[in-house]
Amino acid sequence: MLELKNIDVFYDNIQALKEVNLTVGEGEMVTLIGANGAGKSTTLRAISGLNKPKKGEIKFKGRVISSLKASDIVRMGISHVPEGRRIFANMTVMENLEMGAYIRGDRGNLKRDYDEVFSLFPRLKERKNQIAGTLSGGEQQMLAIGRALMAKPKYLLLDEPSMGLAPLIVKEIFSILENINKLGTTILLVEQNANMALNVTDRAYIIKNGKIELEGRSKDLLKDE
Ligand code: ADP
Ligand code: ADP
Repeated sequence: MLELKNIDVFYDNIQALKEVNLTVGEGEMVTLIGANGAGKSTTLRAISGLNKPKKGEIKFKGRVISSLKASDIVRMGISHVPEGRRIFANMTVMENLEMGAYIRGDRGNLKRDYDEVFSLFPRLKERKNQIAGTLSGGEQQMLAIGRALMAKPKYLLLDEPSMGLAPLIVKEIFSILENINKLGTTILLVEQNANMALNVTDRAYIIKNGKIELEGRSKDLLKDE
């Protein structure tokens, strides 16, 4: 279980998160929805240790992680796929994936790990020796997710994977995320596009101006829209 308890995050004097409470249970697929500037990225960055909360506590599997370094948080099993597909553009698909395994520290089973990623993402398999910068936008997003999976996370945090992509490729990516979740990885998906996110997740939080406004089952929130 991942728990955020009364989290406040500031950028200088600007308060980006106000007493945020959020939980993600093991096995769940949860979305955090909100408009641009609502505090979605800041929430993910707080979890992964990149923005330290000024107040409140973040716990993972019963342990307080809000005081740990980002690198320790990754090793505990939380991988963050940031906004904007930050892949290594001059490296091949395989080389990008290998970088994901370095983070974990254990490179004992690289071949098996590539195969797992390739079975989830057939497009990456077909392009495994291609330079990542020449992939389409959707394929680059897939690679960013694949690279995060190489670190063998228990929890996967995704920051707007749909951004700037055509609806059809987003559908493909979201359907792969559902598979990843079914295979046992817990997912927290941040999205501006509420409809798309509610369709693939179990539970949702809505954030507005740094505050959680609503929490509920995704199905029920879809009906309300
Ligand atoms: P979202 O991901 O929902 O678009 P963010 O978490 O990026 O929202 O931003 C929340 C608030 O914090 C916004 O008001 C934004 O302008 C502000 N903010 C985000 N990053 C920074 C930063 N590096 N410096 C100052 N303010 C920031
Ligand atoms: P989009 O415009 O949808 O992002 P592109 O037209 O850039 O997609 O790419 C379409 C397909 O062509 C993708 O599968 C991509 O991997 C491949 N591709 C693009 N550029 C190159 C390249 N320089 N070498 C090999 N394959 C490429």
